[in-house]
Amino acid sequence: MRSLIAGNWKMNSLLADGRERAGVIAARAGGADVCDILLCPPATLLGELAARLRGSPVMLGAQDCHAEAEGAFTGDIAAPMLADLGCSHVIVGHSERRRDHGETDASVAAKASAVHDAGLAAIVCLGESAEQRDAGGARDVVRGQLRASVPRSADSTNTIVAYEPVWAIGTGDTATPDNVAALHRNLREDLLDILGDDGAGIRLLYGGSVNAGNAAELLAVPDVDGALVGGASLNVDEFWTIVESGRTA
Ligand code: PEP
Repeated sequence: MRSLIAGNWKMNSLLADGRERAGVIAARAGGADVCDILLCPPATLLGELAARLRGSPVMLGAQDCHAEAEGAFTGDIAAPMLADLGCSHVIVGHSERRRDHGETDASVAAKASAVHDAGLAAIVCLGESAEQRDAGGARDVVRGQLRASVPRSADSTNTIVAYEPVWAIGTGDTATPDNVAALHRNLREDLLDILGDDGAGIRLLYGGSVNAGNAAELLAVPDVDGALVGGASLNVDEFWTIVESGRTA
């Protein structure tokens, strides 16, 4: 499967550097045979990047949305608004939102469903904590999150699953290729079980301290169909090396 490399800029970048970074990536992507690329800047930069990326193969995504399509929810952003801006994807259930905003599997599923209703693709994030890993429960935790966070509206055209062990995010502590292979194989089996044959077409991203030095090895793991990249996506050259490590077919 063709890889997707998604850059999650988190709460980083002002207009000038976001514009510059997106412009360089769009220019490089325009003249290269590379895998699919998605940039997920903070909401403040979505409008600017939509203009910057127009006509380029680089896609635009948001980092979160509300589960309702509109209404009295001060400070929130609805999925149809993101579609209106030119987004194609929305990350939902990132562990930082689960941790800092009390998001649960049920609220993540509701958000993913709203993303689908808006005609966009949801990147549903899952992953075990260090304590859960140490207790030997990673497989069960991740399986439970998958079943409860992926809504009934999911199919291979509108849903991507990102396995992001919480202990690997922003720590420099990456899961080994063997561990990633085992978890992704299990996730694939579960997706086939939940969605039937269509489960084979759902992209499974790995996320957690992916960088220019480890990307090629991680992206070569079976059932790793791309990466969700945080810190390293803020450095254009490092992000581009990761992009070049992805499969083009
Ligand atoms: C992320 O934010 O999804 C992530 C994986 O971050 P990092 O690459 O910095 O670990």
